[in-house]
Amino acid sequence: MPTASREIQLAARPQGEPKPTDFRLTDVEVADPGDGEVLIRNTWMSVDPYMRGRMNDVKSYVPPFALDAPLDGGAVGEVVSSNAEGFAPGDVVLHGLGWREHAVLPAKAVAKIAPVEGIGDSAHLGVLGMPGLTAYAGLIDVASLTEGDVVFVTGAAGAVGSLVGQIAKLRGHRVIGSAGTAEKVRHLTEDLGFDAAFDYHDGPTADRLAELAPDGIDVMFDNVGGEQLEAGIGAANLNGRFALCGAISVYNATERPAGPSNLFLLVGKRLNLRGFIVRDHGDLRQAMLDEVGPAVADGRIQFRETVVDGLGRAPEAFVGLLRGENTGKMVVKLG
Ligand code: NDP
Repeated sequence: MPTASREIQLAARPQGEPKPTDFRLTDVEVADPGDGEVLIRNTWMSVDPYMRGRMNDVKSYVPPFALDAPLDGGAVGEVVSSNAEGFAPGDVVLHGLGWREHAVLPAKAVAKIAPVEGIGDSAHLGVLGMPGLTAYAGLIDVASLTEGDVVFVTGAAGAVGSLVGQIAKLRGHRVIGSAGTAEKVRHLTEDLGFDAAFDYHDGPTADRLAELAPDGIDVMFDNVGGEQLEAGIGAANLNGRFALCGAISVYNATERPAGPSNLFLLVGKRLNLRGFIVRDHGDLRQAMLDEVGPAVADGRIQFRETVVDGLGRAPEAFVGLLRGENTGKMVVKLG
């Protein structure tokens, strides 16, 4: 018998910041699982910055969302019924059909997760999931973190940035972070152990880096782009390495943003700026879990979540994420 469910569809392609009318909450019926499929009741879903790019009708490393169809993205749920070997009702699973209450998927698109005592299932959408791997791969592999490096991370109080800074601290580095509010700056230095942090609204990033990293930076993990990236290039030491992870300062832009005006410095400083996409780094997942998992379990790595309740509020959570209303991972609780 079909299951009554609800989903969020893309009603219109946003211009600039998404509006409530760009989304539609719709009642649907989900069919019983076919051969090799499982029916899942979602308990958590993720909202992530990359989803903003998918709302535009442009070709990228992932296809755009279709209009009048449900959005998708990371989700955790519980198997309700299974027609697939290896899955049974009650299993807790991770998959890619968020933005809906129930989902039917082939078993090969679903991963079982082992509940960890003291750590909620939603951590698999954050610190132990895609953002965790992004932080680890970007810092260790893309930026080739090396002993003695001074690290600058932007978007430092978010899901990815907060983990970048903490991994670097655990490995003994000096870490400087930027974030958008005084409370986030306090959180970075007092709760997460960053050596220094600043609010990027308080003046030019170049001035803050001159003060907080007088001997320059060796690694920049950039989530933001724009003025902060330009300042990082200016503050970089010889052979500095930049992991270009995202550029959230331009995701809602309606006009082409100004680029860093100092790219000529890459030559003399022999800088290496490298963009990356997490899905190319699945080979590091186990190494990430081996390093980050125990540190989360014993409290050496902290993770915060900002929780928004209910599928109907998922668009609000998404817009809030782009506005900086989250500390740590923004997640939506569904069940
Ligand atoms: P976050 O948890 O960091 O949330 C987004 C944060 O961006 C907000 O909290 C806000 O914090 C900040 N922000 C919003 N607007 C601006 C602005 N104009 N200038 C500076 N900061 C801004 O998200 P994630 O950790 O999930 O993602 C962080 C970055 O990593 C994003 O750019 C994302 O696209 C990228 N990413 C890339 C991946 C890859 O494979 N390359 C994979 C996953 C994420 P604040 O209050 O500090 O402004």
